[in-house]
Amino acid sequence: MVVGDIATGTDVLVIGAGPGGYVAAIRAGQLGLDVTLVEKDAYGGVCLNYGCIPSKAMITASDLAYAAGHAEEMGVYADPEVDLAEMVDWKDGVVDQLTGGVEKLCKAAGVNLMEGTAFFAGEHEARVVHGGEGQGSETVEFEHAIVATGSRPIEIPDFSFSDEQVLDSAQALDLREPPERLVVVGAGYIGMELSTVFARLGTEVTVVEMLDDVLPGFEADLARPVKRRAKDLGIDFYFGQAASEWWEEDDGIVVVTEDEDGELHEHPADKVLVAVGRQPVTDTLELDAVGLEPDDRGFLSTDDQARTAVEHVFAVGDVAGEPMLAHKGMMEGEIAAEVIAGEAVGLDYQTVPAAVFTDPELATVGMTEAEAEEAGFSPVVGRFPFAASGRALSMDEGEGFVRVVADDESGFVLGGQIVGPEASELVAEVTLAIEMGARLEDVVATVHTHPTLAEAVREAMANARGKAVHTLNR
Ligand SMILES: Cc1cc2nc3c(=O)[nH]c(=O)nc-3n(C[C@H](O)[C@H](O)[C@H](O)COP(=O)(O)OP(=O)(O)OC[C@H]3O[C@@H](n4cnc5c(N)ncnc54)[C@H](O)[C@@H]3O)c2cc1C
Repeated sequence: MVVGDIATGTDVLVIGAGPGGYVAAIRAGQLGLDVTLVEKDAYGGVCLNYGCIPSKAMITASDLAYAAGHAEEMGVYADPEVDLAEMVDWKDGVVDQLTGGVEKLCKAAGVNLMEGTAFFAGEHEARVVHGGEGQGSETVEFEHAIVATGSRPIEIPDFSFSDEQVLDSAQALDLREPPERLVVVGAGYIGMELSTVFARLGTEVTVVEMLDDVLPGFEADLARPVKRRAKDLGIDFYFGQAASEWWEEDDGIVVVTEDEDGELHEHPADKVLVAVGRQPVTDTLELDAVGLEPDDRGFLSTDDQARTAVEHVFAVGDVAGEPMLAHKGMMEGEIAAEVIAGEAVGLDYQTVPAAVFTDPELATVGMTEAEAEEAGFSPVVGRFPFAASGRALSMDEGEGFVRVVADDESGFVLGGQIVGPEASELVAEVTLAIEMGARLEDVVATVHTHPTLAEAVREAMANARGKAVHTLNR
């Protein structure tokens, strides 16, 4: 401790107020623990301020503009004018409402909010450096700590986010005028979501990706409709190419990529968005002071109770590893708080879904057929195409399908993969089925509202048993 410091004591010190940290803090407060939540930037973290919420707001607004201008088939003729600055102001309003809500919820749960940057100074001690000149720093002594410092975008050599023409996702979501030409480096979910936004706003988008397809990590038949629609929007794809350098010209910039044979390709643009992944923020925490060491990618390993190798230190959210998704972090945050309060809980990672908010949406949970086989099950698969869904067609969204994977013998639902309208919402039913240990027969016996997209989930489950009525059975 620094001479003259008065140390604050707390049961639970939470570092970082993103979805992992603020949820942990609120839950710990609800359980009667004394909690201090330290945040260096903005309540709500990346998710509320620069990630999930702003991107979904811009996806909705750009979709509205695009759909209104492309509905002649339905007898709707419109030529919407888009003011990106106003759209961004609206998005910022949504963000402000939510971040203000987080602060209120924390206060209502009795959480002590502290602005500043925290790092460990001992096994049960952290220093918090307050922002702003002359604000000083203080020591916080804690019984338990929850590390929730999240992640930052990965920079690639020669593409610095401090250059005006090189954007990370947060900067791209704040542009007040659409660039005429945009090169997007990386066809992962962030690259694909933002490419779609800008293509709908009239930007000429070029996507370059080192691997050979969009959305690496998802099955090819799920990614296919996403790539097809992106191409329909006018997005150009270059696979097997890595961005190597860029330079300015009189009328914009040139982004250079290198293919597998070492050949160079030039892509003219006005801006380049680099979306090649995110890395955990653990390098600023002085982890060795608390006895922790991150793995070689910077993540903190945890068990299913979010506990690190050090008994009284927990890690939640992006710092705790893949999947780097907000809902995984929130659930880990709740669990860490409950474990500290003495509850016997843990997270089943099979029930963590993933969603991509492209056009169409894509969502998965649990096991694929191949994973189920590998895990020793005899999987049975059911499928239902949205082309056979009355609701999907009445929304002009007949592309894609619901697929479910179950254990043939027991009928237990093991996984689901959906590409199509509202996939991000529909996956919740499959997730619930997995968590509850539901069988195919349970979902089939459940009456679903007509006409809804959710009927497609029931039909896929029925199809796995050869009992679907609205599609041909396998
Ligand atoms: C463009 C984009 C779109 C996304 N869309 C989705 C989506 O649709 N769905 C989804 O599930 N996920 C999405 N994500 C991912 C999601 O944002 C993250 O998984 C989530 O924010 C992780 O939460 P977290 O609490 O671990 O960390 P973060 O949200 O990163 O928050 C960490 C917080 O810790 C603070 N902090 C860091 N170090 C310190 C320190 N030393 N002291 C004090 N404070 C500190 C930071 O300022 C930050 O506020 C998206 C991400 C991006 C970038």
